[in-house]
Amino acid sequence: MATSTLNNYIGGVWIKTSDSQTLPVENPSTGEVISTVPLSGFTEVDSAVKSAASAFPSWSALPIKERVQVFFRYKTLLEKNAQELAELVHKENGKILSEAMAEVEKSIELTEFACSMPQLVAGEILEVSRGVECRIDRHPVGVVASITPFNFPAMVPNWTIPNALVLGNTMVLKPSEVVPLSACRIADLLKEAGLPDGVFNIVHGGQATVEALCDHPGIHAITFVGSTKVAKIVYQRATSHLKRALCLGGAKNHLIVLPDANEDMAASNIAASMSGCAGQRCMAASAMVAVGSVDHIIKKLVDESRKIIPGKNLGAVISKQAKERIEKYITEAEQQGAKILLDGRNAKVEGKENGYYVGPTVIDFVKPSMKIAQEEVFGPVLAIMRTDTIDEALKIENASPYGNAASVFTQNGGAARYVVEHASAGMVGVNIGVPVPREPFSFGGWNESKFGAGDITGKSSIEFFTKPKKTTTKWSAESKVNWMS
Ligand code: NAD
Repeated sequence: MATSTLNNYIGGVWIKTSDSQTLPVENPSTGEVISTVPLSGFTEVDSAVKSAASAFPSWSALPIKERVQVFFRYKTLLEKNAQELAELVHKENGKILSEAMAEVEKSIELTEFACSMPQLVAGEILEVSRGVECRIDRHPVGVVASITPFNFPAMVPNWTIPNALVLGNTMVLKPSEVVPLSACRIADLLKEAGLPDGVFNIVHGGQATVEALCDHPGIHAITFVGSTKVAKIVYQRATSHLKRALCLGGAKNHLIVLPDANEDMAASNIAASMSGCAGQRCMAASAMVAVGSVDHIIKKLVDESRKIIPGKNLGAVISKQAKERIEKYITEAEQQGAKILLDGRNAKVEGKENGYYVGPTVIDFVKPSMKIAQEEVFGPVLAIMRTDTIDEALKIENASPYGNAASVFTQNGGAARYVVEHASAGMVGVNIGVPVPREPFSFGGWNESKFGAGDITGKSSIEFFTKPKKTTTKWSAESKVNWMS
């Protein structure tokens, strides 16, 4: 099927990429090619950076109360176009429509938060000595590059776009080459909202495009969201060029389940957490640590998981390679002696035989030494490990190199508090399967799930996207009473 090649978005216009290589964009639910994405190089990155740099002086000079007006309109446009955007996300990512809609709703919440920035960034002022005042106000960093993954084509770009731009920065977005379509629609909506040309730009591409962004002297800060392997590369490369960088990586999230947990709440939350977005969430439950006698909860969890049907309430995984990788983890765990309670391999959806589906999979008696217990599977698969005590469970959780999320299921406040205190993760839940902090709380993990200081969203993002200016002023000729007068 002939498809058109996407254009880069530079200076408010869609620009054809000359002579670059391209990649097909697939609909994972059907395997059908739906578009073609160019793999931009240094030349395209350079023009996008120049465009963002030339828009910076006038955009950053606007009072924040004026910049924020664009995002009030953008929020309204996201609401008005929510269905269309959700359908695009569904088409290029393979998640079910309601999950795609949830992603758009979260994008609206992120924009709402950005609209509250004028209230949050009002400066500080103090008379520090007689007749002498100090004030702090925040200035944008400059041109920011935002590099995003495949699993949230609309939401993750919106983690950075509204906050960074409201705070006066300009941006070059490099969306995942696997899901480039939603980002293009976002560019159209920003333009319709009245964002001046050049403030927001898109360069499509992969590794070489990211490298060009890391190396370009006109980029002042880089945010990255994706796998830990690439997060490390981008963090090292960007900071070696003395850029500010915040790079979010992969995850292996542990849910610690105690025997007194509410059976229904634990089972339904854990099943939803491990299978939502086909398990392709950095906050997904991937490992469950069962403490003591929790067979009744595991039985209920398997019953709940059986209700999750590929093609109905479970979307496709992103690619053929992803499906094969996930199924290999399951097969290896089985060969190593783990017990498959629910097997999602070889899932088929009628009418979508070429789609990349993996059914919900629950594996019991996994050993902490197994690959499936240690690595990010990124599919609808739950590995259950058994322990006798909370401390043993925490030892397993703490041993993971990642540290995005952890959760505990119990009715005992003291036990919950103990796990929250000792889990080595940046986002922790109590009786919550997906403990995503909502605005104004910020999003970010620990350990190898995040490189760089601070978090990417919420109040914490203000630190990343601005630099504080401290001004000390004296207007009156006071007599000298101390060293500062
Ligand atoms: P990925 O690391 O393969 O790709 C992310 C981005 O990096 C893409 O834009 C891609 O083009 C670029 N890229 C890929 N290889 C590169 C290389 N060698 N050098 C430079 N750039 C490169 O990640 P993905 O497969 O798109 O997304 C899934 C991963 O993202 C999972 O590991 C998931 O846990 C993680 N993720 C993390 C968070 C978080 O908040 N911590 C959120 C969403 C996704």
